[in-house]
Amino acid sequence: MSFETLGLRAELLRAVRDQGYTEPTPIQKKAIPVILQGRDVMAGAQTGTGKTAGFTLPLLQRLSETALPAGRRPVRALVLAPTRELAAQVGESVATYGRHLQLRSAVVFGGVKINPQIEKLRRGVDVLVATPGRLLDHVSQKTVDLSQVEFLVLDEADRMLDMGFIHDIRKLLALLPENGKRQNLLFSATFSREIKELAQRLLNRPELVEVARRNSTAERIQQVVHPVDKRRKRELLSHMIGSRNWKQVLVFTRTKHGANRLAQQLEKDGLSAAAIHGNKSQGARTRALAGFKKGDIRVLVATDIAARGLDIDQLPHVVNFELPNVAEDYVHRIGRTGRAGNQGEAVSLVCVDEHKLLKDIERLLKKSIPSVVLEGYEPDPRIRPEPMQNGRGGRGGRSGKGQKSAGGNLGNTRAARSRNRPGAGRAASR
Ligand code: AMP
Repeated sequence: MSFETLGLRAELLRAVRDQGYTEPTPIQKKAIPVILQGRDVMAGAQTGTGKTAGFTLPLLQRLSETALPAGRRPVRALVLAPTRELAAQVGESVATYGRHLQLRSAVVFGGVKINPQIEKLRRGVDVLVATPGRLLDHVSQKTVDLSQVEFLVLDEADRMLDMGFIHDIRKLLALLPENGKRQNLLFSATFSREIKELAQRLLNRPELVEVARRNSTAERIQQVVHPVDKRRKRELLSHMIGSRNWKQVLVFTRTKHGANRLAQQLEKDGLSAAAIHGNKSQGARTRALAGFKKGDIRVLVATDIAARGLDIDQLPHVVNFELPNVAEDYVHRIGRTGRAGNQGEAVSLVCVDEHKLLKDIERLLKKSIPSVVLEGYEPDPRIRPEPMQNGRGGRGGRSGKGQKSAGGNLGNTRAARSRNRPGAGRAASR
């Protein structure tokens, strides 16, 4: 199936060709025709599947089918995204795919001056991409009118709920024309009960479009766990990046402070690194991302929220310096690699305290991740798991039994000898 057979107009096909895309991705094949028919859609698609073009292309087509009103243009399509970075990227996609059309688009998010956004909105935009908080600021200042919205897209809806945006979303929904008068599209990588509830409230007889198994990670991403002592993680990370000659690595830490500290330590190790997280100004985040994309910065250390939705073409390596507290975040993190058909590698450095988190992740994935102990970095079998502050990961922390199951697995020295056999380290304790 080609883009031509999906029923897209010539201007959009030209924009797709400009991008060098030869064939639609599976989500595009499924979603585009349904959206063109005017149906509501609930789509299960991870980042990296081409989902942005999957909704942007048909949305632009539907908008361009009606004549543009003269004078001030009301917002006709609203795309909500959880983070500034994702909003910026979706905005770029709208501009890219819509470059041969006469539609106007704008992106609004927090952390930057509001006045240029107000000015742009005042001139009139057809497609508005926004994060919920800043959009509500505009609503309260009466600088945006959402009463004419015909198309609503919730992108990465699961993350929006995780980030506590449900109240903002509800407030925004109340400002839109009543539900029967607009087309609604909901994209989410995972389907929790909350997402289903939101979908039920928002969508009218939606077509369910799914390309990957629910809560599954992209098959083409090679995943591996390296058990290691907590205090030696940084050393191991620098060693891996250096000895394997990795040129572009996205590393996840759990905290902003941890991200800063790790980036500084890596710099001391002679690796160009930058941290990206919620406390950084938008300018600093944009600069770090640009440097990373260009290859000036070799290691980008990020927290989950900052990394959400980053679109870096062909990012080859993702490292979990610490496992996330929420298993779903693992899926999002490793989804930064292996995008749009490319190969990718996701490495997790796991200390004994994180064993419970690893189990949660494997339960979600419905498979175990191969575990390989690296020579010279074997975890000390005498180190016992510490109960974590948030109550996770401490199962049997101090008891001999818990030590055996966690430490026994992660400290398996036999695995060190057979480290080239993926899964060998895990097999003993499973
Ligand atoms: P997304 O999942 O929307 O974040 O897209 C992931 C990446 O795939 C982006 O870098 C897009 O530019 C790229 N992409 C989208 N559609 C296609 C396609 N049909 N062929 C090749 N690459 C694509």
